[in-house]
Amino acid sequence: QVAQSDPECLFCKIVVGEVPAEIVREGERTVAFRDINPQAPTHVLVIPREHHPDVAAAARAGTGLVDELAREAQEVARGEGIGSDYRLVFNTGTGAGQTVFHVHAHLLGGRGMEWPPG
Ligand code: 5GP
Ligand code: ZN
Repeated sequence: QVAQSDPECLFCKIVVGEVPAEIVREGERTVAFRDINPQAPTHVLVIPREHHPDVAAAARAGTGLVDELAREAQEVARGEGIGSDYRLVFNTGTGAGQTVFHVHAHLLGGRGMEWPPG
């Protein structure tokens, strides 16, 4: 399996340390860091080290990467003291608000969550 990286991608640059970020947890295949523009008391982005443009592409890679994002998010939530009360969001596609095309799970918590999200 070839590790994929995109030298132009902001989150690939965070993975290699070329762009600084407040990292909260690192795994063998994943990195979790605080969102620069937090929308909740806890707002952490959980990403694979490997570059995939969105969650569907990561799922198609078929290596259990998306499962791992979910597991890592749970560990981050525990570390943040919010237990298992959080929202996990994959914005997919420009029309749904995706702006960075390196798959990332938004982990949001520490406040009440409205539904529907708007
Ligand atoms: P999207 O809109 O693609 O779902 O989410 C991208 C997220 O990345 C946004 O919540 C945005 O605030 C965050 N973001 C954008 N640039 C940076 C950055 O340089 N560092 C960090 N930590 N977060 C960023
Ligand atoms: Zn990338």
